[in-house]
Amino acid sequence: MSRSVHIIGAGLAGLATAVRLCAQGVRASVYEATNQAGGRCRSYHDPVLGITIDNGNHLLLSGNRAALGYLDTIGARDRLFGPSSASFPFIDLASHERWTLRANDGRVAWWIFDRNRRVPGTRARDYFSVLRLLRAPPGATIGDVLDCKGPLYDRLLGPLLLASLNTEPPQSSATLAAAVIRKTLVAGGRSYRPLFARDGLSAAFVEPALRFIEANGGKVVFGERLRAFTFEADRVTALDFGDLSVPLRAGDIVVLAVPPVVAASLIPELTTPTEFRAVVNAHFCIVPPIGLPPMTGIINGTAEWLFAFPDRLSVTISGADRLLDTPREELAALIWREVAEIAGIASPPPPWQIVRERRATFAALPDEDAKRPGPHTRWGNLLLAGDWTATGLPATIEGSIRSGNRAADLIATMN
Ligand SMILES: Cc1cc2nc3c(=O)[nH]c(=O)nc-3n(C[C@H](O)[C@H](O)[C@H](O)COP(=O)(O)OP(=O)(O)OC[C@H]3O[C@@H](n4cnc5c(N)ncnc54)[C@H](O)[C@@H]3O)c2cc1C
Repeated sequence: MSRSVHIIGAGLAGLATAVRLCAQGVRASVYEATNQAGGRCRSYHDPVLGITIDNGNHLLLSGNRAALGYLDTIGARDRLFGPSSASFPFIDLASHERWTLRANDGRVAWWIFDRNRRVPGTRARDYFSVLRLLRAPPGATIGDVLDCKGPLYDRLLGPLLLASLNTEPPQSSATLAAAVIRKTLVAGGRSYRPLFARDGLSAAFVEPALRFIEANGGKVVFGERLRAFTFEADRVTALDFGDLSVPLRAGDIVVLAVPPVVAASLIPELTTPTEFRAVVNAHFCIVPPIGLPPMTGIINGTAEWLFAFPDRLSVTISGADRLLDTPREELAALIWREVAEIAGIASPPPPWQIVRERRATFAALPDEDAKRPGPHTRWGNLLLAGDWTATGLPATIEGSIRSGNRAADLIATMN
């Protein structure tokens, strides 16, 4: 009898596991607690704005190989859009300067020698400080190896690292920062062209994956929250969903692809990250002015990145725990003032929505990174996946898809 794989959680890690398995002809069933797939990377219809928005603006880079491979498999690579080169417009709200960082494609970063391409106020030699991150000892913070001040830090490294790690960079893991820098600044502009899901995260990452899984013999069941495993000796023998109990046959495998807090409640003695950081997004229902770039980096603002979608302007703020208690109206007014200046709009705030994801990612601190488990558990047929497992990357789409691929590849090697 052929093996069945049961995947718990239909976030990107669970979907990536199922996609990879279904592509190999393995029977995979995904069980999702809610009535929607995508987890922390999803779109939904917002009744206040009357349009479909994403839970948070997600940025991918052209060097995110696992994510792009996943999109290739599900036939959705064309759902990502972005400029043809690594160019990043910025504005400094304190000095009102605007500039565009324009990296060249190749590995030799000659753009840092061109004052019209690099960050204003920086010198070419400042950029070599980044290499110190690559030699950081295990357990070091970014603040241990980099001077977290000066124009290069304030106008490029700080915002880039905060966006990637979702944690205040000086306290964040230098190892995780190095993983980001290796895949971006060190790899050359071809690897860090920005990519966005212009028509929504679900249209790119979720709906095509669900279609692919169904078309290739898998199934996704919604509204089934795993409540407990039955463990016997070194195996999981049943899944308890409350109304539904799924007995496992010899050879069946389970991939647990839920957030860390849930995983820790289901598996005894599992060590996971326990500290998290928030992301706040503000969405304004207004057609962007012609010529506004799809993404603008903001220095010296509350807003950090402004995204221009065909039907809205959206702002992302990372590591945003300090804003969780700010009244929504106050936050929307504050952010709108900044958006209006950047976009050159003179009107009062259009209809808006504030979305606060309290546990957007685990905190990318060295101690938290050290708590990330690998894919194996002490039960031979129970594997882990998720952005919080030890992927070597911060909590990102790339990390979660990598973890799903890894689980599927391990299953292929299991007897
Ligand atoms: C606002 C925001 C902005 C972000 N921006 C970026 C970005 O710009 N770039 C980037 O790369 N990454 C970004 N991320 C991170 C990225 O979204 C995550 O790394 C990724 O989506 C995590 O996927 P996952 O499958 O590991 O976990 P999750 O998405 O958390 O999926 C877990 C799934 O398990 C389900 N579940 C939970 N408990 C159970 C249960 N008991 N039984 C069954 N199912 C269960 C959940 O409902 C969920 O669907 C952002 C995240 C947020 C929140």
